[in-house]
Amino acid sequence: MLTPTRELYWNIPGHLLVYAAFLVAVIVFAYGIYRRVRLWRLGQPDARFDQIGKRLLVMIRDGLAQAAVLREKVHGMAHMAIYSGMIILTIGTFLVLLQADFNIQILFGQFYLWYSLVLDLFGLIFLLGIVFAIIRRYIIRPKRLNIIADDVVILPLLLLITITGFLLEGARMAATSPEWATWSPVGNWIAGMINTSKAEGLHRAMWWVHMILSMIGIAYVPYSKLFHTLMMPANMYFKSLKPRGQLTTMDLENSETFGVTDIHEFTWKQLFDLDSCIQCGRCQDQCPAFNTDKPLSPKKLILDLQAQMEKRGPDLLKTKKSGEEVIPEPIIGDAVTEDEMWACTTCMACQEHCPASIEHVQKIVDLRRSQVLMDSKFPQELNLAFKGLETNSNPWNMGAASRADWTEGIEVKTLADNPEPDYLWFVGCAGAFDDTAKATSKALAKILNAANVNYAILGADEQCCGDPARRSGNEYVFQMLAEANVEMFKETGAKKIITACPHCFNVIKSEYPQFDGEFEVIHHSQLIAELIESGKLKLPSGKLGKAAYHDSCYLGRYHDIYNAPREILKTMTDGNLTELQHHHDKSFCCGGGGARMFMEEHIGTRINHSRIQEAADAKVETLGVACPFCLVMLKDAVKEKELEGIAVREIAEIVADQL
Ligand code: SF4
Ligand code: SF4
Repeated sequence: MLTPTRELYWNIPGHLLVYAAFLVAVIVFAYGIYRRVRLWRLGQPDARFDQIGKRLLVMIRDGLAQAAVLREKVHGMAHMAIYSGMIILTIGTFLVLLQADFNIQILFGQFYLWYSLVLDLFGLIFLLGIVFAIIRRYIIRPKRLNIIADDVVILPLLLLITITGFLLEGARMAATSPEWATWSPVGNWIAGMINTSKAEGLHRAMWWVHMILSMIGIAYVPYSKLFHTLMMPANMYFKSLKPRGQLTTMDLENSETFGVTDIHEFTWKQLFDLDSCIQCGRCQDQCPAFNTDKPLSPKKLILDLQAQMEKRGPDLLKTKKSGEEVIPEPIIGDAVTEDEMWACTTCMACQEHCPASIEHVQKIVDLRRSQVLMDSKFPQELNLAFKGLETNSNPWNMGAASRADWTEGIEVKTLADNPEPDYLWFVGCAGAFDDTAKATSKALAKILNAANVNYAILGADEQCCGDPARRSGNEYVFQMLAEANVEMFKETGAKKIITACPHCFNVIKSEYPQFDGEFEVIHHSQLIAELIESGKLKLPSGKLGKAAYHDSCYLGRYHDIYNAPREILKTMTDGNLTELQHHHDKSFCCGGGGARMFMEEHIGTRINHSRIQEAADAKVETLGVACPFCLVMLKDAVKEKELEGIAVREIAEIVADQL
């Protein structure tokens, strides 16, 4: 047997012309990249060049290994087929170049046989992935995928490149009949269908068509959705390494403007994000606002901001060059509406499921910051909350001195009673002032007393953690509250803080470090689960009937706490906990996050109604929650929808009832 190999550029006189075409493609490609870089550079500084090792790991895991894409099995596999096919075929082409132009002899013998087999199989996998994508986009047409002009070019272009690749391979094999033809099964199969007398002509024609289409493909990358092949891994590299629930801090003293009014006030990374969107619609699929007919779609928001960057870009570049002052063109009212921006509950479902690691929530809060701090424009219901936060340190605007009134008649230790507690219990505004949530505080006191936990509350000295202020864009009030609380915590010498509110939990754990406040924060569900596990709390089993747990966004998606509340409920359901349609990282918000708790919901279906309907559909008798906002929102939904058969209960209350 001859040594397996093949003559490169066989039957292609004048193949050097393809290098000229390649050079043109590279120039067009580079110009496309240059245009985008100029737009990103309009943005503000953002330090994303640190921790190279960690960033590389994230990029390899989420980007190159496609972990984020594969979270959706079927579509993820199809994308993986296209992605892996593209990589292997590119490497294969590169090896041909090495041998043909640099005389590095690689493609012969056993290696050549395996090379032929691998390229053939990955070519087929690539083809199947493209066919799946075409069927899905043009025939199945899921709601979340809208067909844009780009789609009409890209998928057919990739399909044609693959088909012509196989045809030229088949024609070459038909003309040359290599002994090792079986190592290229697809090419061999096609060769069997080609008339040998016409094979050479067909091969030459297909080779040129294939090359020209490939060059068009390369040149087109930065001008099309194909750009995501570069942008996605790069965006993962630059992804925030800070805690997920941490919003940026503003320098209120030295800034002249606040938040984002015009597109260039986003950071360069936020502009970079906009070019990373692959328009897959996964964010929109998970968004509680979109799914209850609000005007907000996180996908549309990103694409509208991208369009705004392109629209504003030329003017901003000119102004930057001339050194003139920029006359701002507000995003709100042009690219994004007020209703869109205020509809967000900051539930983080969009970010959690975005395969390109786009950071939606910070952008929305940045827009809110500008509206609140620059223009004093916000839903009028927030007036009361802001006033309450400023004057009485709570968004209900109840007298600050009455913060500990809920303790009357029950045994609750304050710092005055117990100056050296193991745990400082941060009750939170809902637990202190809202009648529904006060029951949770009383229940938690009963549990802590029963388990002999050494705790104390701050009483009337406690102030709102600041979550509603920060999420609604009122950074000024947030910083005032955060600084006061951090100082107070330090004065008490507290190291461990318990809270029953996931919003307080997130702010104290993830955002107070921005104000020099590093504390160990424990959600009450974690502490109760530990007390049960250690035998300090004994609960009867089988008491709850059919039960499910509603994941709080700020506990689950923000902090990966999914199991502790479930473990508590399982002890009282003989381990039989039902799941609602949306659960764990796909859980559906109650509608109260992002300061939405303090705003009216005028548009579409109420989010809490949608969520409680899932409990009704699952025929749940007890719906356990671990957040005061979820408790209030879902209890309201039960009343409004007259679903009294469902008992929405905070886990602490459920546990306390059994003690
Ligand atoms: S954070 Fe939640 S509500 Fe806001 S855009 Fe994302 S998915 Fe929608
Ligand atoms: S923002 Fe992310 S999830 Fe949403 S469409 Fe773009 S890539 Fe997909």
